[in-house]
Amino acid sequence: MAGATLSAGGMTARSATDGSFALDLPAGDHRITVSGPGIVERTTTIRAPNGTLALDVIPAGGPWTVDFYREIARNGAGGGELEPLIPWDSEPTFYIDARPEPTTGAEIPAETIDFVREAIRVTVPLLSAGRYRGERIEVTRDPPADMTPGTVILRWNAAEVSEYAETADAFAYRVGGDANVVVFRHLPETWAVHHEIGHVMGLYHPLGGLRPSHMWYSGELEPPHFTEWDIFHAQAMYARPPGNTDVDVDPPGFVIGGTAAAAAARAEPVVCFFPERPPDRY
Ligand SMILES: [Zn+2]
Repeated sequence: MAGATLSAGGMTARSATDGSFALDLPAGDHRITVSGPGIVERTTTIRAPNGTLALDVIPAGGPWTVDFYREIARNGAGGGELEPLIPWDSEPTFYIDARPEPTTGAEIPAETIDFVREAIRVTVPLLSAGRYRGERIEVTRDPPADMTPGTVILRWNAAEVSEYAETADAFAYRVGGDANVVVFRHLPETWAVHHEIGHVMGLYHPLGGLRPSHMWYSGELEPPHFTEWDIFHAQAMYARPPGNTDVDVDPPGFVIGGTAAAAAARAEPVVCFFPERPPDRY
């Protein structure tokens, strides 16, 4: 991007027409702020000397608002406490539990498993901006233990869902990485899989209804259901480090080109209520 202003170490530079810029900084870490017309201001940390590095910025306008971001990525709806981001920091492996649903003994139909597999393949790269491919998928009757790091287990168990909420169709054990379990009540509830993978990837319920969202019953009619607002905000989240708080003020411990600190583990189940079935509500 041309014409952005970059400030660090008491110096200022402006990006050229090809987006390049140069700052002659003393060795060490420096807070840098990128600002300018048409972009959301961003402050992060860079390490000098560092050869070349790239900074991304969010265009102002378009499908972006900080308020919606705080709801969907930071659990801030309704004045709730803002949480740090919990994106995956490595490619997850998904296990589809193909054993019969234990409450009814019903076999899981092949087309249902195919539907879940396709939802993973589409949703994971979509929400992570291609950072993860969603291709590590095992269909198994011998899944790993729940919450094994690096894994997501998807299964059908009506009794387990009932334990959390009598009327819920499905739930995820938590929001975000680096381990998760998704449980569907019955086979017909499998349609909720895109929404649940949204939780797996780090999205909360944007309860305030600030923008249309598949994470709050107003997505698109056809899979993968997510709105442009969902997708843009999720992708912005995946361009930020774990532990990021305000979207464009990265934590001081995060250095571009360095290693992101692991997000604090959280284990609160998130229960999803679907007041009506598709096609008109999500
Ligand atoms: Zn939900």
